[in-house]
Amino acid sequence: MSINGERLKRHLEELAEIGKIGETGVCRLAHSKEDRKAVEVVKGWMEEAGLTTKIDGFGNLIGRIEGSQPEKPILILGSHIDSQPYGGRFDGTAGALGAIEVVHSMKENGITPQRTIEVICFSDEEGCRFNKGIFGVRGLAGMLEEGELDRKDKQGVTRREALKEFGVEPDLSQSPVYQKGDIAAFLELHIEQGPVLEQKKKPVGIVSGISGPIWLTVTLEGFAGHAGSVPMPMRQDALLGASDIIRKFDDLVKKEGTETTVGTVGSMQVFPNSRNIIAEKVEFTVDLRDIDLKARTRLEEKMYNIIEESAAEYKLKYEIKEDTRSEPRYCADWIKDIMKEEDGKLGLDSPTLMSGPFHDALIMSYISDYGMIFVRCEKGISHNPLEFAEMEDIEKGVQLLYRTAVRISQA
Ligand SMILES: [Zn+2]
Repeated sequence: MSINGERLKRHLEELAEIGKIGETGVCRLAHSKEDRKAVEVVKGWMEEAGLTTKIDGFGNLIGRIEGSQPEKPILILGSHIDSQPYGGRFDGTAGALGAIEVVHSMKENGITPQRTIEVICFSDEEGCRFNKGIFGVRGLAGMLEEGELDRKDKQGVTRREALKEFGVEPDLSQSPVYQKGDIAAFLELHIEQGPVLEQKKKPVGIVSGISGPIWLTVTLEGFAGHAGSVPMPMRQDALLGASDIIRKFDDLVKKEGTETTVGTVGSMQVFPNSRNIIAEKVEFTVDLRDIDLKARTRLEEKMYNIIEESAAEYKLKYEIKEDTRSEPRYCADWIKDIMKEEDGKLGLDSPTLMSGPFHDALIMSYISDYGMIFVRCEKGISHNPLEFAEMEDIEKGVQLLYRTAVRISQA
């Protein structure tokens, strides 16, 4: 009752050759020639696994095996095989090829699922080419936006043209493909893209949910003046106000956040940005995330207080713009329970951890219960050719995926 690790390894290695850059990197941009080649190869592996395949109007590659009770809500497994322009071999592919391995092993082990199973390689998860990702899965879930096919890449090619070039007739009228109730569960395995499992010395983790970010842009406005002549007590230095806020924000998250709160200021613009002028205007971004929505809301309010107090102290005007507010999406308890039981049988003792980055599962969560499995990756490095996961760890994760999928497909 186990998966074929040799075959999975071979598939991962073969796929890494398509769009290979350098020794270990991969560039397979969404809907590109390389992406198409990868889809063809993976489609072949799906068929070997006993799946009937198709490529839909969004560019998703979908394999399907009918269950013995086809009237039951289906089980979907999958991830993505497109990559960042300077990406690694495991992001997405571990989960996509792992899902195919699960179905292939079920066939070889003589297991006929009661539920119909679909394995999906979602199109354009990464979003770097058209600056908007999780495209294929949003198509399936009915979450596309206005003008989605008219978005252009850096060469001026629209998504509509790129999809045609890729070989599909874009057809957004198919969206949504699934309705609530059609799907019993969605399962995704993915490399962690963070350092928690490595730190805990565990090969595999069970995901509790995907934390949603709040993205803010804060603007502080003071008054410019000559760095040589304006006395210190008379200054309205916007950069000083920003520094004060950033320092206090970091303290706040570290001291009052939960284990899962993360807060980051990653971008700042200073005006007029000159060494001998007191900064008049500073704009910076805030990224605040937690799987615990209450904790996040509490910190968000305190953050507003900090901004207000610091602005007053440094005699600055301020403005806060909200760019994004996503809610955390929790994995289904019943799926986590099955995973934990199977994890126990495998003797993995996998910890539960949340996902900071989003995945295709984030969108699937709006139309289905979902569960996720993380696999340890070296130093948490991802979106980089140095991205690395041990084959042994991936096998353990896929083994857990297999057992969970078998249970759900028979329930
Ligand atoms: Zn990914």
